[in-house]
Parts: sequence; structure tokens; C-alpha cells
Amino acid sequence: MVKTLLAGVLGVQGDVSEHVFSMKNALKEKNVDGRVVVVKQKKEIDNLDILIIPGGESTTISKILYKSGIYDRVVRRIENDDLPIMGTCAGCVLLAKELTDNENEEEVRLLHAMDIKVERNAFGRQRESFEKKIEFKGFDYPYNAVFIRAPIIRKTWGRCEILAKINKEMVVAVRQNRFLALSFHPELTNDVRIHKYFLDMSILRYR
Ligand code: GLN
Repeated sequence: MVKTLLAGVLGVQGDVSEHVFSMKNALKEKNVDGRVVVVKQKKEIDNLDILIIPGGESTTISKILYKSGIYDRVVRRIENDDLPIMGTCAGCVLLAKELTDNENEEEVRLLHAMDIKVERNAFGRQRESFEKKIEFKGFDYPYNAVFIRAPIIRKTWGRCEILAKINKEMVVAVRQNRFLALSFHPELTNDVRIHKYFLDMSILRYR
């Protein structure tokens, strides 16, 4: 029997409905039988096949995750290596093992999923948001990425693979096993190639 894929979008803050919409389109385009749900309670984490953590404010999202107990459930599934996760913008921050500015671990409790060090709001106030065409590994034409108070991945190590950079040396997309972290917002364009990429690496074993 073929199981219906259950995709969760963390419904704490940020572009939740946009991610639901994009993931539904990606499932349709890939002909995958799946459902997309907004996740707000810890008990929902255990049933998911894949999870998206949207952008927003990493400090706020992290506090709510911790208080609600969702944090512990997600960490357990990361440790069991049985939950593919895509984190976008603030979600990218949360997937990191290290931040450049997190002396007080209470401020942002990281999920410690990926071998990356992230700098929050790396473009400063001058450039709060912008769009840029980027080369994304494996894509045959550039992807229009939307950056909003975006973080930058300052350091990668271990098994982390770089998928996209801007301005030559600024890393904006990485993958490690079945985790995908992006400093931009793939849910804000109609181009669902990144959601499809996430599906591929999660369930169809990309490459
Ligand atoms: N600056 C935010 C943070 O560090 C991320 C912004 C976003 O998700 N659009 O949490």
C-alpha cells in the first residue's frame, strides 16, 4: 500500500500559508500523493513525514517551540534521523549548530541539526529586503531568491554541502543529509523548484 505523505508546516509565525500553498503545488507537480498540514502542537510532530520551518523571528519562534514542547519532539526526531526538515530564513537560523551572536543560549534555542554557523540579519538595516537571481546547484536556470532581513551562513563543516552563494562568498543555501537550510524565502515566488528539491531529497532520495 502506498502511504500518503504528510507534510507539516510549523504554524508558529511567518509565511505559513504561503509554504502550504507552495508545498501543495510541489506535490501536485511531482505527482506525489500527499497532504499538507499546519502544525501547532507537539503531538502532531510524531506523525509527520517532512517538516518546513518558515521564516519569522527566530527568537520568538524558538521561545514558542520550547514552551510548547515542540522543540523536544523535533530534536528527538532529528536525533533519530527520521524527519527531513527545510528551514527558511528564521528556520535556517534554528537548524544551525552555532550562531555568531548567541552568547545566551536562552535567546535562541537551536535545533543543532546542521553543521553551520549562521549570522542573523547579516545584511543590516540598509538592505532589509531584496531579490536576487542565484545559481542553485542542480537547477538548469537561475532561481529568483527573495531575501528579507536575511541571515547568512558564515561557516560550514562536516557533511554540509553548499548549494548556493551570492556575491561570490556568501552562502545562502546548504544541505546536509535530509536537512535543507535557506537564507531566503522560496514560498514567496511561484517557482516551486526548491519545494520540489526538498521533496526529492526527503522521499525520493535526491541523487
Ligand atoms: N531576521 C530574522 C531572524 O533572525 C529572520 C527574518 C526572516 O525570517 N524573514 O530571525
